[in-house]
Amino acid sequence: MKILVVGGAGYIGSHMVKQLALAGNDVITLDNLSYGYKDAVKYGEFIEGDLGDASMLDSIFKSGDIDAVMHFAGFIQVGESVIKPSMYYHNNVINTHTLLDAMLRHDIKNFIFSSTAAIFGEPDYTPIDEAHIKQPINPYGHSKLMIEQVLDDYDKAYGLRSTCFRYFNAAGADPDGELGERHIPETHLIPLILQAASGRREDIKVFGDDYPTDDGTCVRDYIHINDLCDAHSLGLQHMIKHDRSDRFNLGNGKGFSVKQVIDVAKRVSSNDFKVTTEPRRDGDPAILVADASLANKELNWQPKFAELEEIVRTAWNWEIDYLCKQ
Ligand code: UDP
Repeated sequence: MKILVVGGAGYIGSHMVKQLALAGNDVITLDNLSYGYKDAVKYGEFIEGDLGDASMLDSIFKSGDIDAVMHFAGFIQVGESVIKPSMYYHNNVINTHTLLDAMLRHDIKNFIFSSTAAIFGEPDYTPIDEAHIKQPINPYGHSKLMIEQVLDDYDKAYGLRSTCFRYFNAAGADPDGELGERHIPETHLIPLILQAASGRREDIKVFGDDYPTDDGTCVRDYIHINDLCDAHSLGLQHMIKHDRSDRFNLGNGKGFSVKQVIDVAKRVSSNDFKVTTEPRRDGDPAILVADASLANKELNWQPKFAELEEIVRTAWNWEIDYLCKQ
């Protein structure tokens, strides 16, 4: 298949490009390099450009027989979305709409969308299944849910099929050591902890220890990046085979508190480091754990990295073999 990966130079996109290319697909990455890295695109063709550029999209779609589009070029920082909602609605909603309409102009009808657990807001219950009420509590979550709604309507009106994956906490790195997580600024827990473990950061700050959880810190469901990509590959095949749209929650189904993640990182790195407690971060629900049984059942998807320790080990290897050497 020929697949356009929008945002293929970013963390999730670059791992996806690798997996698709190694499986024999013809892959084109489109990325404006605002957050991505050109050197993270190790496979296929690379085009530098913006997904909001309709004429450029037209020329890409005109020149090739693209079978499907995967879209990873979203802005992802919850806190930033609260301060700069315009930026989030522009990129995540308006530009995605431009991309979808360009697909329609060229009769491309298969779309994979990276959505988020943030569409659920403060959960009424956990683990969270697909039927859980969607009540985002920040512009980031709203922007992703809006596109899910657009996709529902485009399916009915235009037959554009879409599979949306609501990620819980994507984590870890390519086990081959070729790719990993590189965000500037880095805001995610595991890379920040590992920076403290390697000495690139003075400490790790725990955002709140007064949550209604066993140890008072937030609980999250960490899923390895390759498992996430596996689900996308299976989702694409499933969408084409059944000619229908689907929504899946993606996680390991197991929750770990911030303190537990820190303990795992200390074990994996064999290093101790300073841990300080800070006030809660705005917009953080106490517990987010996925019920991914629908993806298990429908896609026959099973995470291969079932243990948090294995996930953190891949991220630690990336930290010491790549990031520390930059
Ligand atoms: N967190 C933390 N210290 C940090 C970064 C994150 O305590 O320096 C906490 C955060 O409050 C949340 C969890 O770690 O409860 C996971 O945060 P992350 O930003 O990695 O992902 P999110 O759950 O926001 O998607």
